[in-house]
Amino acid sequence: MSDPNCIFCKIAAGEIDSDIVHETDDIVAFTDLNPQAPMHTLIIPRRHIATINDLAESDSEVIGQLFLAAKAIAAREGYTDYRVVMNCNADAGQSVFHVHLHLLGGRQFGWPPG
Ligand code: 5GP
Ligand code: ZN
Repeated sequence: MSDPNCIFCKIAAGEIDSDIVHETDDIVAFTDLNPQAPMHTLIIPRRHIATINDLAESDSEVIGQLFLAAKAIAAREGYTDYRVVMNCNADAGQSVFHVHLHLLGGRQFGWPPG
């Protein structure tokens, strides 16, 4: 359910301070500590899931909620153009092993990503 060594579990539980911008019973969204764009929000399930590779069929509802929250937060912040990213494992850029959707907006983004 939660991993005592996981920083995002601690943020979800309110044990570590963060700038929470949206929360429900199942998900929490907070501002990235090291923002890569004018809007850089991380949206996480409250329940600890380490990587996309650990997702089960029963997680489909909460993963859908991450995207619906991204849409709602972007709209609220006035962004129609934005990027959502979820890195899976270290070579893809994942550094915190609790799944999180990055929501970035407010600048031009390049493709392909680095
Ligand atoms: P990843 O590299 O795993 O896709 O993204 C992890 C993100 O979490 C990074 O963008 C990093 O800046 C952010 N981050 C790491 N530790 C903390 C923290 O304690 N608080 C917040 N708000 N963001 C964090
Ligand atoms: Zn966690």
